[in-house]
Amino acid sequence: MKKIFLAISKGRIMEEALALLKKNEIECNISPNDSRKLIFRTNYENLQIIIVRASDVPLYIESGKVDLGIVGKDTLLESNVDNYFFLKDLKIASCKLVVAGKKDKKLASNMKIATKYPSLTQDFFLSKGIPCSVLKLYGSMELAAVLNLSDAIVDLVDTGKTLKENGLEEICLIDNISSHLIVNKSSYKLKKNQIDKLVNRIS
Ligand code: AMP
Repeated sequence: MKKIFLAISKGRIMEEALALLKKNEIECNISPNDSRKLIFRTNYENLQIIIVRASDVPLYIESGKVDLGIVGKDTLLESNVDNYFFLKDLKIASCKLVVAGKKDKKLASNMKIATKYPSLTQDFFLSKGIPCSVLKLYGSMELAAVLNLSDAIVDLVDTGKTLKENGLEEICLIDNISSHLIVNKSSYKLKKNQIDKLVNRIS
């Protein structure tokens, strides 16, 4: 039986993905929450779990060094990697990707948008025929809108509490987001039976 490597995005997705796997009786031998290890053996056949930064998951999958990935749709939309098949919407870490700004702000030409998703932001505004400039930030997008560093932001919204507590509002929805299970195209050809069995197990 061949080894199967599954990369899981760190943070919120990892918490929910590990809980989903546990519900299906798949567990790491050591809890990733209590360890600095990066690769974890599991109690399921030859499955090994790797914990990586969300934005790095597509690259590991494209390289084929990792077979499977659990990654947010936002990260997939932003990445230009396409050497993978979509296997399943796991419906975890669900949230919305939105344009947000100060009260009564509307979409307008030549807006400056702060985001950690420059590529999908450009694509979205282009699809609306609205030119914009993008300011790439790495955290706390909301602050950019509050301090008028940008006219609006593109970010994930879950409960809406962060927007509300900072006096911001959703301007428009870009997409509904959840975590997807993806597979490297060659891995799927080489290990199809093993991978199908694992995918069927995760419900
Ligand atoms: P909330 O206040 O519940 O709307 O959460 C908004 C904050 O959490 C923002 O800073 C988002 O970037 C972040 N966030 C919301 N949902 C997710 C998610 N599914 N994955 C990662 N970050 C998220």
